Amino acid sequence: MSLDNRPVFAGGCQCGAVRFRIEGALGHASICHCRMCQKAFGAFYAPLVNVGSAELAWTRREPNRFRSSNAALRGFCAECGTPLTYESLDGVSLAIGAFDDPSTIAPTIQFSAEGKLPYVDRLHDLPARTTDEEMVGNPELADIRSLQHPDHDTDAEGSRP
Ligand SMILES: [Zn+2]
Ligand SMILES: [Zn+2]
Repeated sequence: MSLDNRPVFAGGCQCGAVRFRIEGALGHASICHCRMCQKAFGAFYAPLVNVGSAELAWTRREPNRFRSSNAALRGFCAECGTPLTYESLDGVSLAIGAFDDPSTIAPTIQFSAEGKLPYVDRLHDLPARTTDEEMVGNPELADIRSLQHPDHDTDAEGSRP
């Protein structure tokens, strides 16, 4: 919460070069199945939340932007490639997975449903294993150290956990 009791959100890219802070209530959260979102995110669909009437500030570097159509820009970190924004006549939307705590931003609508990949509705039926289960028989996995920026603001660009 901010001083005037508005909700505060923060997040950024995987390397931490680009960070954002939002004060105020977010707009609608969605997933978009369109082919451009699949490509831009390298994913099955794009999870995005509209900034709406909240205030967005880039607290480190701003994202670089690719003009993906005459109506839209796509922001990303030029250092690590994390997709960060979709910017159009609707205003700015941010990639939900880039937030420090994406668990509170649940999508409420799907867009461009005609582009949905045929297996998306069956993903939850796939066999699932935890990382701990994965380590059984693969002890070398325990030595892996993350170089990802932590899920909170840090003092210096490039600070590592
Ligand atoms: Zn980055
Ligand atoms: Zn889309």
